[in-house]
Amino acid sequence: MEQIKNFIGGQLVDSQSDRISLIFNPATGQKIRQVALSTVHETGQAIESAHLAFKEWSKTSPLKRARILFKFKSLLEENQDRLARLISEEHGKIYSDAVGELTRGLEVVEFACGIPHLQKGEHSANVGMGVDSHSLMQPLGVCAGITPFNFPAMVPMWMFPIALATGNTFVLKPSEKDPSLSIELAKLLQQAGLPDGVFNVVQGDKEAVDVLLTDPRIQTVSFVGSTPIAEYVYATASVHGKRCQALGGAKNHSVLMPDADMDMAANAIMGAAFGAAGERCMALSVVLAVGDEIADKLVEKLQHQIGHMSVGIGITEGKENDMGPVISPQHKAKICDYIRSGVEQGAKLLVDGRGYQVAGYENGYFVGPTLFDYVTPDMKIYKEEIFGPVLTVVRVPDYDTALKLVNHHEYGNGAAIFTRDGETARQFSEDVQAGMVGVNIPIPVPMAFHSFGGWKRSIFGPLNVYGNDGVRFYTRMKTVTSCWPASVRLEHHDSHFVMPTME
Ligand code: NAD
Repeated sequence: MEQIKNFIGGQLVDSQSDRISLIFNPATGQKIRQVALSTVHETGQAIESAHLAFKEWSKTSPLKRARILFKFKSLLEENQDRLARLISEEHGKIYSDAVGELTRGLEVVEFACGIPHLQKGEHSANVGMGVDSHSLMQPLGVCAGITPFNFPAMVPMWMFPIALATGNTFVLKPSEKDPSLSIELAKLLQQAGLPDGVFNVVQGDKEAVDVLLTDPRIQTVSFVGSTPIAEYVYATASVHGKRCQALGGAKNHSVLMPDADMDMAANAIMGAAFGAAGERCMALSVVLAVGDEIADKLVEKLQHQIGHMSVGIGITEGKENDMGPVISPQHKAKICDYIRSGVEQGAKLLVDGRGYQVAGYENGYFVGPTLFDYVTPDMKIYKEEIFGPVLTVVRVPDYDTALKLVNHHEYGNGAAIFTRDGETARQFSEDVQAGMVGVNIPIPVPMAFHSFGGWKRSIFGPLNVYGNDGVRFYTRMKTVTSCWPASVRLEHHDSHFVMPTME
């Protein structure tokens, strides 16, 4: 069976580890590849390769670095179909969603191509007599990226394009559940002209991660995954003196006001709740319906639309399905447990996705779209991130109760409001405790030239990913204050005993 390799120093390298993780096609349940979980020694080799490459790469002009990223961008476009098929095969998401993921990653590459402008620093002339001051935004060294299964291309591309463009070198530790994309990206970077050692991939699990969190050669750690691991990564990396950004889980709420455009809201909620089988950190999993009248209307519309959804394999000839399988049988069982607990705790199960069968794909990990009404804040299905195609409707009497619920929730990644009233929308944007807010937009993922990040226990660390925060994260500021001797032009030069800026 094909074994996914490491990519170290520009070479594809077989791991010697005897710990093997199998990779499945979630639509068929078949084993398709395997990956060895790298050892401490192998992870150290990837770090050493990046460490050795840093000296030359950090001195390469930003323009030259940008040109490599321009080339990488066109290679991504040329290879889009092949990469999207690979994503769909290992993750299960439908083809057009895989293309969407690649496009959002590509946008960060495009942003990083502007690095000569973004990394210019600042300059002030004559801060004192004959004294100038300028700042340099210098790279830090070896940066690590640890990424989740749900976006095997996009999330790594939230990180490495900016890290590389700013002159750092990189070690990526992708999810062991769908690791193939990491190697394809490494090969395309090499084809684009990236020098060997600048970008490395080490496959693995906690054993490799722990090396990345503690090795003194690693300067920064970017993590995206579940909250308990994000918290662990942030604490461990910080104790070891590293700069860290760790993005965690979510429970994204939307508030449905009585004046909302119902058709627009229902369509938006459907896509945001069930797209990618709910395996998105920005999936919309809670609707707070303000008043019974709007709740009744919404639930009726959702039930109708769910009845018309097609669930099946990610790549089809002809008409595409709306939703694919979830990642693993374990994850499927976990989602079904949540559905059971919702029923036990008294929520009204309107559509049950358990036991969903796709003809010809009986061994696939399918869970059908699931809809709960009359969910209350004390229930497990409200409190915890399910990360599956389960939408919960909570009925609230007014806007204030809705806002209170969003703000009291443990997570604060995204939040949305559906309304026709500008004042309510404005107030919501001001008062809601979430990092990304949508007004009549269900999944408000910021563009590459803004930055992505939640609030509360959806993020650990002060800087968000990509955009200007990404440039700040992967550079450190040095400010140079200089005064040149005037001995050539002036006859006298006296000693100065006060700070030069005072003169
Ligand atoms: P995960 O936390 O299980 O794994 C993420 C990464 O951490 C993987 O590379 C994995 O190998 C590694 N890892 C797992 N256990 C570890 C341990 N004990 N010690 C060290 N490293 C460990 O997450 P997942 O299941 O791959 O992804 C789903 C989660 O990611 C969801 O909670 C989702 O909300 C979150 N997510 C968040 C964002 C965001 O931007 N906030 C984006 C995508 C996904």
